[in-house]
Amino acid sequence: MNSSNAAAGTLRQVGHFVDGRPLPGSSGRYGHVFNPSLGVATAQVAMASRAEVVAAVDSAARALPAWASTSPLTRARVMFRFKELVERHADELSLLIASEHGKVLSDARGSLQRGLECVEFACGIPHLLKGEFSDNVATGIDLYSMRQPLGVVAGITPFNFPAMVPMWMFPIAIAAGNTFILKPSEKDPGCPMRLAELMLEAGAPPGVLNVVNGDKEAVDALLDDSRVRAVSFVGSTPIARYIYVRCAEQGKRVQALGGAKNHLIVMPDADIDLTVDALMGAAYGSAGERCMAISVAVPVTERTASELVEALTPRVRALKVGSSIDAASEMGPLVTGEHRDKVRSYIDIGEQEGARVVVDGRNHVVAGHENGFFLGGTLLDRVTASMRVYREEIFGPVLAVVHANSFDEALALPSEHEFGNGVSIFTRNGDVARNFTQKVEVGMVGINVPIPVPLSFHTFGGWKASLFGDTNQHGPEGVRFYTRIKTVTSRWREGVAPGPQFGMPIMK
Ligand code: NAD
Repeated sequence: MNSSNAAAGTLRQVGHFVDGRPLPGSSGRYGHVFNPSLGVATAQVAMASRAEVVAAVDSAARALPAWASTSPLTRARVMFRFKELVERHADELSLLIASEHGKVLSDARGSLQRGLECVEFACGIPHLLKGEFSDNVATGIDLYSMRQPLGVVAGITPFNFPAMVPMWMFPIAIAAGNTFILKPSEKDPGCPMRLAELMLEAGAPPGVLNVVNGDKEAVDALLDDSRVRAVSFVGSTPIARYIYVRCAEQGKRVQALGGAKNHLIVMPDADIDLTVDALMGAAYGSAGERCMAISVAVPVTERTASELVEALTPRVRALKVGSSIDAASEMGPLVTGEHRDKVRSYIDIGEQEGARVVVDGRNHVVAGHENGFFLGGTLLDRVTASMRVYREEIFGPVLAVVHANSFDEALALPSEHEFGNGVSIFTRNGDVARNFTQKVEVGMVGINVPIPVPLSFHTFGGWKASLFGDTNQHGPEGVRFYTRIKTVTSRWREGVAPGPQFGMPIMK
């Protein structure tokens, strides 16, 4: 991302969305938003200053008392209207995602749908906020607990899901009675800005959802504002760790989801055609820019490895790489030229480390889109656990094949890896699948399913360096994250004066 103090020029301008209206940026700092299929900058996004973030927190704090005291049913009805509006604008939003991120339109539409599922979950907030009640725990005494909103909360999101990841967060937070500040990725801010406009149209009062665009300066301003009670972060591991530590120091509630290196174990009894189909979508869909992408295939036994690599090779070569808005494309470009170059450099590193480059996507050119940020699908065989291409997250269309001689060796690879987001096993043997599921040190597991992303009414989160904090995203954990529990002991008994009691109260 190029940042500059340059004048606005002719590019579309993306500012902030504060207090129910668009707010042009005033910091004088901008970044570029690209159309990755064309390789040209299409918009200039404002980088918020500390003062602009404070104005957004002011707005959220002003909106909080009235919003927190509306009934959960009223808030659910806003979510129902928001869901309808997003559905009505799905084509426009998908096109925005495809043209700023680079994922193909069908994938953009699918990611929007996965976000909408969280809105549907949030529509159930009256039920989700029901507390607990114990009648007559002692004579005339009732005990109950309720979940109350935290206040002003913030979400900081990555480039790879500009609709879905923000929708993991703000629908549940807002339905639970909080007001929200979203700091989306500066690489593709168009869709999050439209979502904020649609929330206003759905009936969320000004200030309930604010969007500030920006970089580290905006993030730090959110982390340092004592009125921001909780921070939900999704992005790379170094930043997740930083957010977690800085929030924890200040006593803020925090969930910080980081990077991934997801393995797919191929047992000797796996159906190879099914496995290859699964790997094609999971490794190369969205150009590998998914936190649940499969980036490592682990065939068990040399025979399985040869069969797998032989079946994969022609499929990777035949991958249709093209513009994100071309219906024939199976894979679009990388998000920026900078990121494309970083992914390409990893293929160089893999080659230098001794991996066999079976399919080389480094010099892939898409006719008519010569300046686009494209790479072809890449297949690296004979990768070993000590190589950087195995240890580090590449976040691109590069699949590494690591050979294992036994189930135990295969189980150890994801279990001992720094990251623990997702993992998958392909087998026909139920005992093997169950054993693997029980033992593997990873947060989300797929059995004959390549991208095991849980639905909105379950929760999403990895282990180890893939998540810092105690609660996952969405589902019941999302409700717990955005609320705090209050427990009340009450006596309503007419005409009884118990008199002073100096011992520890006990229930009779
Ligand atoms: P990133 O960490 O670079 O950026 C994420 C957010 O942090 C952005 O809003 C960005 O503006 C902000 N940020 C960047 N540098 C910062 C700094 N120094 N200080 C404070 N804030 C900063 O991540 P990305 O490149 O946008 O997204 C890709 C990463 O996100 C990958 O590592 C991917 O695995 C991860 N991801 C994880 C999940 C998950 O659920 N675990 C989901 C999606 C993406």
